[in-house]
Amino acid sequence: MKPVSFFFTETDTIAYNEYNCDSIDALLKTKKLIKLPGLIDPHVHFRTPGQEYKENWESGSVAAIRGGYTQVFDMPNTIPSSVTLERIVEKKKLIDAQLKTAKIPLRYGLYVGASRQHFDQIPLCKNDVIGIKVFMGASTGDLLMDDLPSLEILFEIAGKEDMLVAVHAESEAMLQQRKALLKDEHAYCTHSKIRSPEVAAAAVKQAIDLARKHKTRLYVLHVSSIPELELIKAAKAEGLAVFAETCPHYLFLTTKDYARLEGCAQMNPALRDPEHQEALWQAVRDGIIDTIGSDHAPHTIDEKSEAFGCCPSGVPGIETTLPLLFTAHTEGRLSLEKLIELTHHNPRKLLRLPENNDFVLIDTETKRAVKNENLATKSKWSPYAGMALVGWPVMTAIQN
Ligand SMILES: [Zn+2]
Repeated sequence: MKPVSFFFTETDTIAYNEYNCDSIDALLKTKKLIKLPGLIDPHVHFRTPGQEYKENWESGSVAAIRGGYTQVFDMPNTIPSSVTLERIVEKKKLIDAQLKTAKIPLRYGLYVGASRQHFDQIPLCKNDVIGIKVFMGASTGDLLMDDLPSLEILFEIAGKEDMLVAVHAESEAMLQQRKALLKDEHAYCTHSKIRSPEVAAAAVKQAIDLARKHKTRLYVLHVSSIPELELIKAAKAEGLAVFAETCPHYLFLTTKDYARLEGCAQMNPALRDPEHQEALWQAVRDGIIDTIGSDHAPHTIDEKSEAFGCCPSGVPGIETTLPLLFTAHTEGRLSLEKLIELTHHNPRKLLRLPENNDFVLIDTETKRAVKNENLATKSKWSPYAGMALVGWPVMTAIQN
């Protein structure tokens, strides 16, 4: 790969340069910069194919490198969903063309979606994907596998093939029950009551039981609550190959933010009460949480302004995750070593990625507010807009 580096100005425009050692040395001499390994995002939704009006790889790749990321792993809940080898190959062609147009050689990988009609495709995809994504509860898109017999088959195949199973762990039956129970509530915060911590924990327990039985490597996505953390802690203590991700929104937002953000606070799993956030930070420090995925899931601001019930779930986040985490570091909430572990070393090990020399230089002094108009994501909004953060990338380099 030809080494490339990208510089960012304070007014958030992007300059594309060929690799130049002198300019890097000159930048490094400015004391306020530090160098981190290129970040790895194990969880993005760049919306290709099918929903390119929300995001595509031309805008998504710029958002990624602006956020300090040089590798991203994209989820299969696109239109159509990525459930066969043919669709995976087709999706890669589209992505490669879009990255070529953007002139950004972003490293990426894909998950194949678990589908009852396509169990035979899972082993076929083995060398073309990073893992299997299972929606145990329905979220964005049409992928859902909520019955135990199908999950048994899937975990067995994954165990035999030594493929990673990444789960969206929410119990579909429980959330449908709660939806019916709360059908007369129409405030956005109802979302957190329907998709309660118990709904998530029931599915996490089922997934861990299946991983134990079939010796499957399990990656629990977007962990957000105390009962999930307790189950994951116990699974790790037992020696199971169970890994956990959390996302910036659970570390920096709570149910209190519905009043301010309304539909822009809606995502799956839902925001939690503050005591869960405190427990998550502790779990990050204790190593119960292995990775931080942005779960970058853009929708247009018009879509997010719809009434509860019509408003889609998901928030963009790849451009703000690193400054959020670095700001938390400056406030003493996590060490720099832990930040690098969560955003580089652990995802690299989990996804079995080769090491490279990618890096990001961040400005450790300049405090700058998140501004919607400066974002590269097509969605052009952030739940953190207005928040003053430090640790913004000034340069991202991709090189072998
Ligand atoms: Zn997601």
